[in-house]
Amino acid sequence: MALANENYLKTPEIYCFDEIEKRVNAFKVLHPNAKIIRLGVGDVSRPLPNEVVQAMHKAIDEMSHEEGFRGYSPPQGYDFLIEKILKEYRSNGVFLDKESIFVNDGAKSDIGNIGHVLGRDNIIAISDPVYPVYENATIMSGRAGVLNDDQKWSNVVYLRCTEETGFVPELPSEKVDVIYLCNPNNPTGTVMTKLELKRWVDYAIEHQSIIVYDGAYQSYINEPNVPRSIYEIKGAKKVAIEIRSYSKTAGFTGLRCGYSVFPQELLVYTKYGDVVPLIKLWSRRNANYTNGVSYIVQRGAEAIYSRKGKAEVQELVNYYLTNASLLRNELLSIGFEVYGGTNSPYVWFKTAYNQSSWKFFQQLLYENHIIGTPGVVFGSSGEGYMRFTGFSSREDTLLAIERLRKGI
Ligand code: PLP
Repeated sequence: MALANENYLKTPEIYCFDEIEKRVNAFKVLHPNAKIIRLGVGDVSRPLPNEVVQAMHKAIDEMSHEEGFRGYSPPQGYDFLIEKILKEYRSNGVFLDKESIFVNDGAKSDIGNIGHVLGRDNIIAISDPVYPVYENATIMSGRAGVLNDDQKWSNVVYLRCTEETGFVPELPSEKVDVIYLCNPNNPTGTVMTKLELKRWVDYAIEHQSIIVYDGAYQSYINEPNVPRSIYEIKGAKKVAIEIRSYSKTAGFTGLRCGYSVFPQELLVYTKYGDVVPLIKLWSRRNANYTNGVSYIVQRGAEAIYSRKGKAEVQELVNYYLTNASLLRNELLSIGFEVYGGTNSPYVWFKTAYNQSSWKFFQQLLYENHIIGTPGVVFGSSGEGYMRFTGFSSREDTLLAIERLRKGI
């Protein structure tokens, strides 16, 4: 008899975005002609940068000849891409070695996979509200413990991230082993400054913890006191893995490519106190569980670093940032309490009349024909909040603003 991994049964059967779709479909039955504006799901809407498209066309042509054909990628990714990644880090004052970069098929995979190389008994810390994948990965890997009446898992430490903390996670009062941090943060759109992030690095050094630093939105940062990389903080190489993605930077949500950084200095421990560089374990996992990312997609990613590619990517990021800031300004002028939307494509705001997140979701859908993401799907501290994204088209964003102005 084949036994199931029952930890998988502990995660919600319906992913939060499926529930939103269910409700939108019910609305559509009643209002088949309504033009719905989607400011909910975090997927991009603009086409790929031309440089990326050209590079991929060229790569396909190469592959059609015997001399240019490529099979499996090197396990950590092609040198041509890794060199560009390192150069970009260097231009930001961060010096990494080639061996520390692992090209992947997007950030989500490694966020889940990191659990393979960490001991089962680690205490995991996540903020509340949070990008749901951190919590679900913790549950599915059997580390979460039991679900308490307050819907919190017994072995997970929830970092306070509320109005009082400016929706930036607060350091834990107890010792934790693995901390997921997202900067700029999804869902709240808030950012940690270098000074704030330094406190986390210092905490991790003191407690021999590690930080899984999700930098999926680093390209949206435009303030100098906000770090683009955790390695801008002294000592961070000893305690942090950094995960980055081309999804929201260059429209790769459908192409799939990103990378993770495992510095040689980052150490973990056996239960007998022996020291192991985490990269050693990750290299083994990588060699056994993945055959990498296609040559064509890696060539596409490389093109982002050319002069033209950089300009096109900046244009894309500016487009979404402008959408976010238009939404932010409108919500502020209506009188909402608003976070994010300046160094992030996400705008997080308090619901009208202190309504619950789902009630406000229904109101926005039925009155304004706008879809947001109810804050409560990101954790109980998200109750009473709503998330908009700047990822729609400019036309839809402006139309949404017009509708909000007419009445909410
Ligand atoms: N991390 C965060 C915080 C995200 O919001 C997302 C996607 O929305 C991801 C990771 C996943 O990115 P990718 O498309 O690279 O898997």
